[in-house]
Amino acid sequence: YPIVDFACGTAAENSPMSEIDRRLDRPKSPLTTLKLECPFTVYYQPIVCLKSGSVIGFEALVRWLHPERGLVSPMEFIAMAEETGLITPLGLWVLNESCRQIIKWQSLNLSVGNSPLTVAVNLSGRQFAEPESIEQIKQVLLETGVDARCLKLEITESVVMEDGEAAAAMLSHLRDLGIGLCIDDFGTGYSSLSYLHKFPINILKVDRSFVSRIGERGENLEIVRAIVMLARSLGMEVVAEGVETATQLAQMRAIGCEYGQGYFFSKPLDSEAATALLRRSPKW
Ligand code: C2E
Ligand code: MG
Ligand code: MG
Ligand code: MG
Repeated sequence: YPIVDFACGTAAENSPMSEIDRRLDRPKSPLTTLKLECPFTVYYQPIVCLKSGSVIGFEALVRWLHPERGLVSPMEFIAMAEETGLITPLGLWVLNESCRQIIKWQSLNLSVGNSPLTVAVNLSGRQFAEPESIEQIKQVLLETGVDARCLKLEITESVVMEDGEAAAAMLSHLRDLGIGLCIDDFGTGYSSLSYLHKFPINILKVDRSFVSRIGERGENLEIVRAIVMLARSLGMEVVAEGVETATQLAQMRAIGCEYGQGYFFSKPLDSEAATALLRRSPKW
């Protein structure tokens, strides 16, 4: 497991690396002077309210700082972390980092308008299946002092649909904590539409494959329009993922989609750049 080979540098307390060391029952490596304290970092991609044109929050996206390969995309290691179970401590670390970032932004008074800035964190299938996750999430909120209303969790459509009964129970526990719940990559799984209303979901994130191919095939716009209508009738809101052009933004606005996320607004940014963006408070 390449990710384990990497458990060499200083394992910062409560970093995924210290958890890896613990699990492997490995003594702390002598290479503790390695410059990387934690080989992961969190990037933040803005999510924009299409009505006001302002940033309402961010999605937290993990990156692996590889000494030779540079910034490695989660596409290249999330599946492996999921297989090995390392996704659990890694996911918790991302949650913890994101919550600490929320507190930093709040202390800088960088919330927008009167609604609080929210950060959406991805919850892996494995974390979602572990009942202990509830307590762990609760604990992170408590320790960081984050108001649950500032946190959203994203769970992919396929994970939610895999075991509907268990998913519904897990989602209601999270909902009871006051956390906002999003179905990620909506439209790519096999949602049983008759099931959807049974889940306490706040937001559907339409997969970017629909948004990015709108120009190519007229029916993709109709699919997104139908999702927006479906969401509305179920009391949910919609985020269009992967908005890359002004035309796509205009189309999303025209069909009444509430939020947008994508390179047209901004790529995912490190915390400093995300803070700078908040200070500029851009309007689209
Ligand atoms: P996702 O949750 O659907 O996140 C959106 C992905 O789309 C991100 O890729 C983002 O950079 C990318 N994206 C956003 N806007 C655009 C756009 O306009 N065009 C294009 N082409 N791409 C866009 P990223 O950061 O590489 O993450 C990939 C996936 O890895 C995420 O998809 C998510 O499923 C997973 N992931 C990332 N961070 C975490 C994490 O902390 N935990 C877990 N469990 N999964 C994570
Ligand atoms: Mg996501
Ligand atoms: Mg997504
Ligand atoms: Mg996606």
